[in-house]
Amino acid sequence: MVNEGLKFIIKFFHHELSAMSNQEQPLFWSDQLAFGVKRKFDDRDTYVCASGISPSGFVHIGNFREIITTDFVVKSLKHYDEDTRFIYSWDDYDRFRKVPENVPGEFEKYIGLPLSEVPDPEGCHSSYAEHFEKKLEDELEDMHMDIEFIRQSEMFQDGEYADLIKKAMNSRDTIREILNQYRQEPRPEGWYPLQVYCVECGKDFTEIKAYDGEYTVEYYCEECGEEFEVNFKEHNSVKPPWRIDWPMRWFYENVSFEPGGKDHSAAGSSRDTGKEIVEKVYDAEAPVYQMYDFVRPKG
Ligand SMILES: [Zn+2]
Ligand SMILES: [Zn+2]
Repeated sequence: MVNEGLKFIIKFFHHELSAMSNQEQPLFWSDQLAFGVKRKFDDRDTYVCASGISPSGFVHIGNFREIITTDFVVKSLKHYDEDTRFIYSWDDYDRFRKVPENVPGEFEKYIGLPLSEVPDPEGCHSSYAEHFEKKLEDELEDMHMDIEFIRQSEMFQDGEYADLIKKAMNSRDTIREILNQYRQEPRPEGWYPLQVYCVECGKDFTEIKAYDGEYTVEYYCEECGEEFEVNFKEHNSVKPPWRIDWPMRWFYENVSFEPGGKDHSAAGSSRDTGKEIVEKVYDAEAPVYQMYDFVRPKG
C-alpha cells in the first residue's frame, strides 16, 4: 500500500519543510497550521494532534493522506520546539456494518457486533479489527513517525468515557437540537445519543427505553426479543454515535489539531456539529482543522 512513490513524496515534503522552517513568516502549509495551533491554544503545554479510522477493512490512500497531514503538522510543531503528541485512534468499538469484498460472505452473521469482537477473516490475529490495525501499523513502522496508537475498544470497555457519556446523555436535548439543524428527518423527542451493544448477544440492534440520569439505561434488543438493563459504569458496552463520539474524544484528549476528509468537512458535517457539541456540552474548543484531500500524491 505504501509504495515507493509515496515514500519519495513524503521525503520531498520533509525536505521542503526543513528548508522553510527558519523563515519568520511560515510559508509551508504545515508550518502555517502549526502557527495557527499555537496561536489558538497558546495556554497549552502539550499539543495533541489526532487522527484515526474504523478498521473496517477498507484502508485506502485517504487514510495515508490523513496520517501524512497530521505528521507534517506534528513535525512543524516540533520545529517550533513544542511538546507534541501524535495519537492515532483505532475506532474499533464501531459496529461491523458491512462485509467488504475481500472478506467471506458468511461474515454477514457478525453485523452489529463491535469490530473488536468480530473474528479475524484470515485467522492470524485476535480479531477482525486487530487484523487491519496491525497491517497499517506494520506499514507505518519504517516511516519515522512517532505515533501513539489508541484502541477505542479498550478505552470504552475500560470505562474511560463513562462520565463524559453521562454528560452527553444529560445534554441530550441540546445535542438533538444541534443535530436536527442539519437532518432531513429530525431526531424525535426522547432520542438518546447512545448505542448499546446488548449484554446478551453483543449486537447493537437495540433501542434505549429509559435512562436514570446516572449510568443505567434500559433497552430493548431486537435480536434477543427482550428488555435488559445495563449500568455503563460497571459494564461498558455502550458507545455514542460518531457525531457525539468524535467531539467527546477531542475533549478527553485535549486535541489541538485533527484533519478530516471531504465527507467530514461539508456544511452540517460531523466536523460542524462536533464543534458545536464540544463547545456547548463539554465547554471546550474544537481543534484546528484541515481537510486533508488537498495532499495529492500524484501532484
Ligand atoms: Zn490476521
Ligand atoms: Zn441481544
